[in-house]
Amino acid sequence: MTRGNPTVRAAGIVALVVTALLGSAYVLGRSLIPDQPQARKTTGVTTNADGPYYADQPTEAEPSGAPSPSRGAGPTEAGQDGSGRDSGGGQLFGAHTSTGTPRLALTFDDGPDPRYTPQVLAMLREFDVKATFCVVGENAQNHPDLIQAIVDGGHTLCNHSWHHDVTLGNRSADMIRADLLRTNEAIRAAVPDAPIVWYRQPGGAWTYPVVSVAQQLGMTPLHWSVDPQDWELPGASKIAATVTSQAEPGSVVLLHDAGGDRQGTMDALRRILPDLTARFELEALPTDPT
Ligand SMILES: [Zn+2]
Repeated sequence: MTRGNPTVRAAGIVALVVTALLGSAYVLGRSLIPDQPQARKTTGVTTNADGPYYADQPTEAEPSGAPSPSRGAGPTEAGQDGSGRDSGGGQLFGAHTSTGTPRLALTFDDGPDPRYTPQVLAMLREFDVKATFCVVGENAQNHPDLIQAIVDGGHTLCNHSWHHDVTLGNRSADMIRADLLRTNEAIRAAVPDAPIVWYRQPGGAWTYPVVSVAQQLGMTPLHWSVDPQDWELPGASKIAATVTSQAEPGSVVLLHDAGGDRQGTMDALRRILPDLTARFELEALPTDPT
């Protein structure tokens, strides 16, 4: 009974040495890669679809075609306004979040929509409430009768861009200006003398250029302070509970009368209006903001 075979033992030592050498070479190789901080920085850049592809991160590169759970959001969700994505980490660049008075303002985004906007108008009329509608240009073009109905009801209008482009603020000032002007033209094709003194950036994705262009065109940037995230379809009870519990003097409430199934918002509004009108004075945002 012998203890160990010398040949096997020698082979083992050689293997250890080779492993150590390879390890050193690997460490040396890693230390020669100069761009680790840059690689981390560019990871964020590559989340931009237009960003360049960096080939210097072979060990960190995701396998192409791998599913990304963060990209699972549907188009409806990605196109809506809501604080879940928007006001959480974004900057407002001075966009208003309050009426500036004790009065509360209801705002309805993304319409007009032939299914829901008439329902909203009927409920507002029933409770003698005036509100503000942040309309999308192409919807205004398609439904001029609803723009007229909004104005006839004593409500005020807010430009919400031509096509609800949440990335509009990243485009050139000329493109932003053209988008906002086209939207105003569609509104005024329906109601020629309609005052349009408010602008709400889709998704609340404000940038300095979009705020600046809106102001140059005589529109005040309008954000919000109460957001029940009705675009996520939480149900009428939750929408109503969020609005009635968070409402306070000066609140600007964000609701949607278009952009998806809004029955929950319609049902919520029927509960919200009696509560809010009992506690606050409600107003349409003025057309002569100072
Ligand atoms: Zn919107």
